Amino acid sequence: MEECIFCRIIKGEIPSFKVYEDKKVLAFEDINPISTGHTLVIPKKHAENLWEISAEDLAAVHLASKKVIKAIKDTLNPIGVACLQLNGRGANQIVMHYHLHLIPRSIEEPELPVSSWEIKQGDMKSIKETAERISEAVE
Ligand code: 5GP
Ligand code: ZN
Repeated sequence: MEECIFCRIIKGEIPSFKVYEDKKVLAFEDINPISTGHTLVIPKKHAENLWEISAEDLAAVHLASKKVIKAIKDTLNPIGVACLQLNGRGANQIVMHYHLHLIPRSIEEPELPVSSWEIKQGDMKSIKETAERISEAVE
């Protein structure tokens, strides 16, 4: 896993603008921010996605994100913060090391594309069938 860019950031081989660190988690600014304060929260132990990450590391990432989102609120005074996490290339995941995006929205900045999809009523029969298929597979 030598080539993983986020593992290299954790090791300090690539610089980053760190905002928070603990035993299991690192949070740093995204170098291509969608908005001011766009922050990534990652586990220090490499895991590619939500299917692979351990429950313990997942909990640590999300508990850390609660601290960071509070700091974002206190310093940047956003009107909202979108939390986004992509799994797999088909969902546009580019860096294959689990990461949670914290994307603040301020009134001066454009609408966040990730949160502005068109609301259209779904087909209830199809939604029900899909829910049944997923719920039967939950382990
Ligand atoms: P995703 O995999 O969820 O599509 O997004 C990966 C994110 O990582 C992108 O928002 C991208 O800007 C960010 N990113 C990619 N390489 C680096 C890097 O070397 N440093 C930092 N700080 N962010 C990066
Ligand atoms: Zn990695």
